Amino acid sequence: MTGMLIDEEARTIVCPRCEEAQPMRDFATLGMSPRYAWLLSPIYRCKQCNHLFAPRVQQHPVSALA
Ligand SMILES: [Zn+2]
Repeated sequence: MTGMLIDEEARTIVCPRCEEAQPMRDFATLGMSPRYAWLLSPIYRCKQCNHLFAPRVQQHPVSALA
């Protein structure tokens, strides 16, 4: 455990309240406008405890912007 909420290799997200690691697809992402999605941080709801949280976007090197 390195303190990361999102494990992109295992495709899991750790809820910061109940600290349960769950598959990404089991988290409900609240709807956001696709038009502005790239400007927004997704908000997740934990199915175990209903906690709402928005993980900070982890920095990825941007190779190409269309
Ligand atoms: Zn939770």
